[in-house]
Amino acid sequence: MGGYGSGRHFGAASKATTESRLQLDVRYLKKHNSLKPGTAGVLSWLSSNLEAGTIGFTVQQGRLILNYRYRFQERDLEDVQEIINLDRTYCNYGGERVWLLCPQCGQRVLVLYLNGKDFLCRHLTDVNYFSRPATIIIPGSPLPVKA
Ligand SMILES: [Zn+2]
Repeated sequence: MGGYGSGRHFGAASKATTESRLQLDVRYLKKHNSLKPGTAGVLSWLSSNLEAGTIGFTVQQGRLILNYRYRFQERDLEDVQEIINLDRTYCNYGGERVWLLCPQCGQRVLVLYLNGKDFLCRHLTDVNYFSRPATIIIPGSPLPVKA
């Protein structure tokens, strides 16, 4: 018991995101073994073969820290650090499922969507906002890992 649910498969392979909104899918991170505390890396999204967004991430115990810069239209670049709390549920046979907790409503979700400069669950997304092509994200500065 207590082992990772390795060998389990998530139904459909998550296809590359080609729509304008950026998605953060916790299944992708888990699949790539990127949810262990101390793990840091960069997530990139592709759109029409162009890099649509890049976000640095750091995993700490029980949470995922996102680090990026955001620009809306003509305004100055804004440094954004978003903390996404993680939750886990366990199956009777020892497997586990990792969830993202929506920063605003706290609901367990598998996918968060970029909504302006924040990642929110599907229920809180504003479809009209997504349609604006003004969001630009570039890598933020390196994030020190706090003890
Ligand atoms: Zn929510």
